[in-house]
Amino acid sequence: MYKFIMCIMCIHLYVLCLHTPFSVFQLFINNQWQDAVSGKTFPTINPATGEVICQVSEADQTDVDKAVKAARDAFKLGSPWRRMDASHRGLLLNRLADAIERDSAYLAELETLDNGKPYAVAYMVDLPNVVKCLRYYAGWADKWEGKTIPIDGDFFCYTRHEPVGVCGQIIPWNFPLLMQAWKLGPALATGNTVVMKVAEQTPLTALYVASLIKEVGFPEGVVNILAGMGPTAGAAIAKHMDVDKVAFTGSTEVGHLIQQASGSSNLKKVTLELGGKSPNIIMSDADMADAVEQAHFALFFNQGQCCCAGSRTYVQADVYDEFVERSVERANRRVVGNPFDLKTEQGPQVDQEQFNKILGYISSGKREGAKLMCGGGVAADRGYFIQPTVFGDVQDNMTIAREEIFGPVMQILKFKTIEEVVERANDTKYGLAAAVFTKDIDKANYVSNALRAGTVWINCYDVFGAQAPFGGYKASGNGRELGEYGLENYTEVKTVRNTHTHSNRRIP
Ligand code: NAD
Ligand code: MG
Repeated sequence: MYKFIMCIMCIHLYVLCLHTPFSVFQLFINNQWQDAVSGKTFPTINPATGEVICQVSEADQTDVDKAVKAARDAFKLGSPWRRMDASHRGLLLNRLADAIERDSAYLAELETLDNGKPYAVAYMVDLPNVVKCLRYYAGWADKWEGKTIPIDGDFFCYTRHEPVGVCGQIIPWNFPLLMQAWKLGPALATGNTVVMKVAEQTPLTALYVASLIKEVGFPEGVVNILAGMGPTAGAAIAKHMDVDKVAFTGSTEVGHLIQQASGSSNLKKVTLELGGKSPNIIMSDADMADAVEQAHFALFFNQGQCCCAGSRTYVQADVYDEFVERSVERANRRVVGNPFDLKTEQGPQVDQEQFNKILGYISSGKREGAKLMCGGGVAADRGYFIQPTVFGDVQDNMTIAREEIFGPVMQILKFKTIEEVVERANDTKYGLAAAVFTKDIDKANYVSNALRAGTVWINCYDVFGAQAPFGGYKASGNGRELGEYGLENYTEVKTVRNTHTHSNRRIP
């Protein structure tokens, strides 16, 4: 069976080479495939082997200018996009979801090839959630209503929810397709136009989706997709005078730069979805087997490359030793290897830079006195594989307890009382997510209300839905993505006050 599936995959990859309209993956501007003006390209790497997959055109400021101009033209009053019925925008988004669903197996392979995540995860988790997200926002296109407001006097007052305009969107490499959908869905449902820069580590799937955007009939210039580097193409978007809004997902460090670029250019609206160091609190009354498995998943899912990873596992003192022992046993059982093997739970890290950075954090954990319980090293002689690693006896002030590692490295900390753990959990610059495991509803309520985080999970982790908002408190970001709240970041509210009548007669 596995051999059969692998064979089908090879055929798909062969077809990929045949049916993509380019030998080099080009830039998608104004519904056309274009080389970068500079002619520059960069290689994208298969992280499972370190080998080059193909070359990709590398956008810089000049290409960003072209893309912004195309997006601005597409946004002009009277353009096909501005004149399009809201219901038809919804239809196009539904058609895009259908096309992605049709090509799911192919897109999941491409995602695995470029990012390293297990194919089973790409196909069963990423792709279905992309499709659901686009369908969710398709439904909103003609339902995002303003209000009528009873102001004093003979006036008719109402609000219109209008698109912001040209939206720059800069996305990361950990969930390339999903981050693309989270950004395109609300932007297009509300009638904006988009210039998207995809992560240089994983440009391929987003560019394939560009071909589907054209196929299903989005007008020219509505969506422009560029591959390129952060400090050049990304920065050009962030400081562009004709971009009305920028939405960024990635590191907190770059989040600061995006905010500054807005401040020193045109004060474009900024939404940020940044890093985290999310606490996962295990109370002693929790179901032990479930808590161990969920805490493992909370940290190790997606090679540990999740902004909301449960990367500070706080365990109550009376169950601490058992929890650590069982977590180590579980980490040792984690299947690391070829991401195309359906048994694989963990593939390689995305690139050499992340690989080195994670190994550096493991060294710092050892140096600062945390107890290495398992893993700690490289897991294969090629590619960027790291052993599932567990640290016990972690103290709050250690680097591995304070900084985002973004890798398969679990920190387990001990606590005594619920008040103590809430205070320690909140003692971080981040506030993206958190979780608590307990059978006591009062404890669950106390902890979930007291934690300063945009998402709190109770007896579960990484439960997402396009319907529910996601985003951060504090340095984890500004604004919310997903759900109805996600529409607000892509909308200007216009208030219109209209006199009822030119006569002095009051209308009853
Ligand atoms: P990054 O923030 O540098 O990259 C994210 C995106 O921002 C990419 O598209 C990148 O090209 C772009 N970018 C980089 N510099 C830019 C700039 N000056 N102006 C505009 N855009 C710019 O992240 P990284 O270097 O790939 O990873 C570093 C760390 O960031 C990771 O170890 C992890 O801790 C964190 N990270 C978080 C997320 C998340 O989902 N929140 C995703 C990826 C990485
Ligand atoms: Mg970077």
